[in-house]
This record gives sequence, structure tokens and C-alpha cells, in this order.
Amino acid sequence: MTPSETPQMPLSVRGTASPVKPALLGYTLAELQQLCEEMGYKRFNGAQLAKWMYQKGARDFASMTDLPKSLREALDERFVVGVREPAESQRSVDGTVKYLFPTATGHFVETVYIPETTRATICVSSQVGCKMKCAFCMTGRQGFLEQLTGGDILAQLMGLPEREEITNMVLMGQGEPMDNIEPVMRALEILTAPWGMAWSPRRITVSSVGLLPGLKQLLDESRCHVAISLHHPQHQGRLALMPSERAYEIRAVVDMLKDYDWSGQRRLSFEYILFDGINDSDTDAKALVALLKGLECRVNLIRFHAIPDSELRGVGEKKMLRFRDMLTSHGTFATIRASRGEDIAAACGMLNTERQNKQERGE
Ligand code: SF4
Repeated sequence: MTPSETPQMPLSVRGTASPVKPALLGYTLAELQQLCEEMGYKRFNGAQLAKWMYQKGARDFASMTDLPKSLREALDERFVVGVREPAESQRSVDGTVKYLFPTATGHFVETVYIPETTRATICVSSQVGCKMKCAFCMTGRQGFLEQLTGGDILAQLMGLPEREEITNMVLMGQGEPMDNIEPVMRALEILTAPWGMAWSPRRITVSSVGLLPGLKQLLDESRCHVAISLHHPQHQGRLALMPSERAYEIRAVVDMLKDYDWSGQRRLSFEYILFDGINDSDTDAKALVALLKGLECRVNLIRFHAIPDSELRGVGEKKMLRFRDMLTSHGTFATIRASRGEDIAAACGMLNTERQNKQERGE
């Protein structure tokens, strides 16, 4: 993996007038070693810093007791670690919790904690807002506000109250990860490097609508699982739901994915929200089977959470099962994703939109 050589942009220069100290969360080992050298200390102090931040979850420099006291003080004058507390949360009856984390510039991103019987997943955001404008998504309606740094992405995990329980991460929150690829690759490197959090890449799934340049970089430079938001098997139908189809047709995305080996431990899945009368017919199911023919993959069928001011409707259980059975009987492995957090409107972007509306009303 080769993340950008340039250290992540200090938070203090990301368009805020207030003298916010830059965060070290998101720095690679090499950058931390270089920083310590530049400050007149040893390279191994950089490795100690990485250990404190990424393995021990330290939130301030004072607690890094094996660093020289003068270095801790010097770091404290210039930097923060960069772990932030969530500003708001909503808890579902099923245990799912949706958090709003602040960014340094006063925006918010959604992060969702999803406990299951044998594991716990964190769903993180990669951007504030999104440029992709998918018709079924509240985040798409917000428009694009800000790119997250690698540190901002990691801060969602490090600041999560349930951090110790987390076994898996999905980059499926707000934003299109491939539209912010360098910070995403940086976060993935820190998550999986032995000097970082040392996670197996098999614990991480990155989603995309299929922006080919970023997707190719992700496939070439990481071993994480990949989930493609598909939602319609035909060009015109997908275009009506997802404007990104204009630049990157799903056919081209699937063709590129066929260049990679999916028979090993890396998993490829396709996300498919079933919309009533839009993509739920037997013809659609057959077109989907034809599109994915020859690819080792699975299809995750997803129930739609209705969003305000949209005519899109989800389908009932019967149609869901029929569509799944059509796929499986034609040789495409498909599952119906268990719906989590319905009572807290877990649809991506909902809590953030409510927060923005409140801010605009001065509440
Ligand atoms: S579904 Fe994902 S890619 Fe599409 S607008 Fe929403 S956040 Fe962006």
C-alpha cells in the first residue's frame, strides 16, 4: 500500500480561522519518526507515539509515559492526538447506535455501531456529505461539504464508546470512499500495518458506487473486501438511481472486477436495494444474474428505509424472498441483509440532516 507521501493536511489549515492544533492521528509511522527527528528527538520516539495512539488508544500526550517529558510537552504545545467525543447519539432497540462526530471545521459525520451475536461492526464515513447524489440517499441530498482526512476517518473508531468491542469495519457511511481515495488508503494502512492497529484486512469492507480509478487503486494496494453499490442491472435504470453511472457504467465496473482473483479470502459483494416497481422484477433478477456471470461474488439484498420527499418505496417480504430465490436458483449467491436500527432511521445521512436542519433553525 502506498498512501500519499504528504502528511495529512493539518486540521488548522482546513478552512477554519480558529487556531485549532493539528491532529497527529492519521500520521504514518514514517511521518511520526520524521516529526520526532525534526523536533530534536529520536526516531524510535515516533514508533512509541504510533504505539500509544494506534494500539493503546491514548487521547493525550501526557499519558504517553515512556516518551521524554519534554517531548510530551513540546507535542502538547503544537498538536492534539485528534480523538473526539461524539456530539450526539441515537440508540435503537436492537442495540445499534448512531453517532454524530464533529470535524475540526464544525461539520458532522455519522458513524454507526452495530452489535451482533459474535461480532461488532463499525460503519464509518469517508466524506462530509457526498457528490454522488444517489436518488435514494439523504447524504446525497446534502451535497458535498468536506473531505475527511485519514485521521478523521480513524477518529470515528478511536472515539467510539464501544471501541474495545469492535471486530469489523465497513466504509459504508456518508460519502463515496473512492472520491477521497488517498485519505481512505492512509486510514487502511494505519488500520492494517503491524506498527498501527494490526488488523487483518479481512475485517474491513470498503464500499463504492464504482469510481474506477479509485477502485483500481484500492484493489491493487489493499487486500480489504469490496462492496459495490449496484442497485440496478441495466444502464438506464441505474442511471435514474445513481448519476455516477453516466461516467462509470456498471458493465465497465464489473468487467474491471473480473480482472481480479476473488477465489481466495478477499470477498466481493454487490449491494442491491430493492425498490418497488423499479428493480424488483424477474427480468431484473435475470439481468443481474447475467451481469455478474463468471464473477465469484455474493449479492446483498437490502430493505429500503423510506426517505422524505421521495417516491421510491421498498418492497414487502414476499417480493424480497422471490427476488432472492430467482438469483440463487440461477446460480448467483444472494442473501437478505438483516435490517438494523430501523427505529432510529439508520438510513445514511438522516441524523446528520436533522442536525443541520436544527442548526439552520438556530436550535
Ligand atoms: S448512497 Fe453513498 S455514494 Fe450515494 S449519495 Fe449516498 S453516500 Fe453518496
